[in-house]
Amino acid sequence: MDDRIELLKGDITKHEVDAIVNAANRTLLGGGGVDGAIHRAAGPKLLEECRPLGGCPTGDARITMGYDLPAKYVIHTPGPVWRGGSSGEAQLLASCYKRSLELAVSHDCRTIAFPAISCGVYGYPLDEAATIAVREIKAFLEGDRQLEKVYLVCFGDETFRAYERTLGKKE
Ligand code: ADP
Repeated sequence: MDDRIELLKGDITKHEVDAIVNAANRTLLGGGGVDGAIHRAAGPKLLEECRPLGGCPTGDARITMGYDLPAKYVIHTPGPVWRGGSSGEAQLLASCYKRSLELAVSHDCRTIAFPAISCGVYGYPLDEAATIAVREIKAFLEGDRQLEKVYLVCFGDETFRAYERTLGKKE
């Protein structure tokens, strides 16, 4: 296990990290769940910066400032909607983690916090999503020495337990 990966419980908008990741939708204009919480906590300037970006494809990511958040940056990544698993969901979800980590590193971040992308309204099964998240983050960290901590922020006990099961598995 890479000791740079850490599991946390709570609200991602409260974390003092270089970047928090937003489970956004493709419009990048805000929404419910963690997206709504991030926009509320960051204040209206976040939407002002997002509007001219013109959206983002599923599996890709865009970076903005964090404004009133304790985090310097917000990395917005639209996760896949779960449609049963044979619509490329796993590959798209993996790409969300990879692209977000790449953007963080290219903006000199040392700490980053992820929510469980796609695991809310988008309906991705928790254990499968947790497996993909951990696998992608580990693979990325193997080739990176800049990131000091990658936090997986769990908003609820079920998410926490899913990550614990994944992290507890032998490599
Ligand atoms: P998606 O549309 O990608 O499924 P959601 O925002 O509905 O996005 O949910 C993604 C995950 O974020 C879910 O596990 C949800 O419980 C969690 N979540 C919601 N609010 C917060 C928050 N303030 N901090 C961290 N995680 C959150």
